[in-house]
Amino acid sequence: MDLPLTRRFIGSIPHLGSLVSIAAQGMASPHPHEHWGAIGEIARSQAADLGNFQLLYRIDLRPSETFRCPECGVEGKGLAWEFTNPLTGVRARFSSLLMHAFLVHDRMETEDDLMTVDNVPRGKRKLIIQPRDLYHVMRGTDVPSDVLEELEKAQGETP
Ligand SMILES: [Zn+2]
Repeated sequence: MDLPLTRRFIGSIPHLGSLVSIAAQGMASPHPHEHWGAIGEIARSQAADLGNFQLLYRIDLRPSETFRCPECGVEGKGLAWEFTNPLTGVRARFSSLLMHAFLVHDRMETEDDLMTVDNVPRGKRKLIIQPRDLYHVMRGTDVPSDVLEELEKAQGETP
């Protein structure tokens, strides 16, 4: 399965963290105790703006975690990408490794190591992008119609 339009579009989805840091650069240096409150306030107002413009946005969950791509060996950051549709409230979460596999290697699936609580490897876990999950979170926002059509068509195919 190939989703070239979706892949290009996902690369362009605004990242809430980057918008917040751009907005925060314009702030006077707040007292350290007020800093996180101020950042939270900016994040809320940026999210509201994106909602007004009907824009899908993304946040990175656990951005300091790392993953290693089994295909190219690159070390990437983050546990997962979470997309939010500000109009419907629908969210969809994909592992950062899976997003790397999709955006860089054009893959709809990959696998990572499954660990016990003591951090001992206990096999592999398959990670898959289901086109219907992307379709569901994107629908209703300003997503280009050819992207939605591509996802709609892909839902009928097995990955
Ligand atoms: Zn890679």
